[in-house]
Amino acid sequence: MKLRAFRFYFLSVLCASVVNAFALDREAFTFTNYDLNVRVEPEQQRLGVRGKITLRNDSQTPQKIAVLQISSSLDWRSIKAGGKPLQFVAQPYTSDIDHTGALSEAIVTLPEAVPPKGTVELEIAYEGVIVLDATRLTRIGTPEDAARGTDWDQISAKFTAVRGAGYVAWYPIATEEADLSEQNNLFDVVGRLKAREAASKMHFRIEETSAGTPPQILISGDMCNVTMIEQMGLAHLASVDCEPMWLGPIVPTLVIASYAVLERPDITVRYFYGHDAAATAYAEAAEQATPFIIEWFGTLHKKAQTTDLADPHASPVENGAFLLTPLTSVDPKLAGLIAAHQLTHAAFSSPRLWIDEGLAHFAQALYLEQQRGRQAALDYMASHRSALSAVESDKERQTTAPRSEDEVKRSLINTYDEELYRSKAMCVWWMLRDMIGDQALKKALAAYHPEQDKEPSYMPRLIQAQTQRDLEWFFDDWVYRDRGLPDFKVESAFPRKTMTDEYLVTVTVANLGRAGAEVPVTVKFAGGEITKRIEVRGNSKSVIRVEIAKPPQEIVVNDGSVPESDMTNNVFKVEASNVAK
Ligand SMILES: [Zn+2]
Repeated sequence: MKLRAFRFYFLSVLCASVVNAFALDREAFTFTNYDLNVRVEPEQQRLGVRGKITLRNDSQTPQKIAVLQISSSLDWRSIKAGGKPLQFVAQPYTSDIDHTGALSEAIVTLPEAVPPKGTVELEIAYEGVIVLDATRLTRIGTPEDAARGTDWDQISAKFTAVRGAGYVAWYPIATEEADLSEQNNLFDVVGRLKAREAASKMHFRIEETSAGTPPQILISGDMCNVTMIEQMGLAHLASVDCEPMWLGPIVPTLVIASYAVLERPDITVRYFYGHDAAATAYAEAAEQATPFIIEWFGTLHKKAQTTDLADPHASPVENGAFLLTPLTSVDPKLAGLIAAHQLTHAAFSSPRLWIDEGLAHFAQALYLEQQRGRQAALDYMASHRSALSAVESDKERQTTAPRSEDEVKRSLINTYDEELYRSKAMCVWWMLRDMIGDQALKKALAAYHPEQDKEPSYMPRLIQAQTQRDLEWFFDDWVYRDRGLPDFKVESAFPRKTMTDEYLVTVTVANLGRAGAEVPVTVKFAGGEITKRIEVRGNSKSVIRVEIAKPPQEIVVNDGSVPESDMTNNVFKVEASNVAK
């Protein structure tokens, strides 16, 4: 015990000098390849890893030092290059990118400086335990139950589920400190890591040993291929080889459990014994939604994978077409809505979050509209809107004169903020659909190929190609830049009686926000209403004339289909005495 404490003290003194001398650039290297042999002992909650990683210097300067980080519950055993041990200093590093709130960081002196774009291959070994740990959440005041429901990752005899970057650093990463107490900081750090590793490759071979019969071993929903099973009395040793994968937006998630399996043509549901009814209900809801999703987003390029979580209070997590959720906690009334999202990922994928996630949320609104009508879809979008308004107005409070770099950084094409690339992007897709129509938007989506998406303007150009309308202003305000949200107000309404005894109402709508949009305007009169659409650019006004049969009573701008910062000024009462003869 004493010796260990001494060693830590010694190391931390040493590493302080290393840090000062070299001003570490933790994000200089990108991990381009992982080839890892993982040994899991569920009963001991242990993980041991041996393997190779390839690092590429993506900085502008030669790098003699590499930083490797793993969860603070794991320890570095060795780091070699070309078979020769390298000198490294191990130190704890505080960061909320791991559930423990800290990392075991190895600061490695490389045999020689790696030039920009150069690579180095390292042989690494580390081991330790992964137990349930919600420290990063409880230390910022999250109640214990909620924290454990969010950070549920652990290796255990009953059930193992461990998510990767952003949850548990069970494979090496390298990032600057992430701090949950700072708004969006964790999103940014994880987003940068995913962007850097988007084209990286990962290959796992996994050995698992425990009592009883061998369980299933999955990485991100896909079953790994069994290469060997050895029964040793009551215990077994199982070896699997998992399909090599490109990281893309995937967070590699290791699941080890004994599941029953329900196979349907478009979905596989893995569930715990006793959860049969919930599994069947989910599979059926998914099958019901599939034709609608295919009609909008094309045929499924892979099967959706839904996997049960043991703790009914665990919060679900998605990874492309893979959904990890406690099946018995899925509300049967919402199963179709959840499945629509998951199936959209199985049909359509994009390296850009506002497209990938934005469309999956948009699909949910579309599916609700098909099932229960437009108002149900608008209500669903409204449930996302309050959080979105908070995110957008918060920014406006901070900067009275908006800074151009913020507009770019927070734009849909650059943001890692979930509220923006999910909720705001969903609204953007809905508005585009209202502006150009279902058929045109479906054609634009069908023309999209993720491997050709090299420019942020690729998708906007595909959409523009399907319509005569100029949409450049819309993409500028909503996609390329973050101009906040519009704020519509009916400024005036002048009704006039016509020669044919009808009424012509001239409505002026002002947009007090900086983002323009096309918005519905409804004129209500005794016994009916008429809705027309009007385009109002940021900080400007537009006029529309509506002909109705009876005197107008009320004008309403925006039915909720356009996200707005203030919806309290959207209704205008027309006084009967105002009607000009
Ligand atoms: Zn999604």
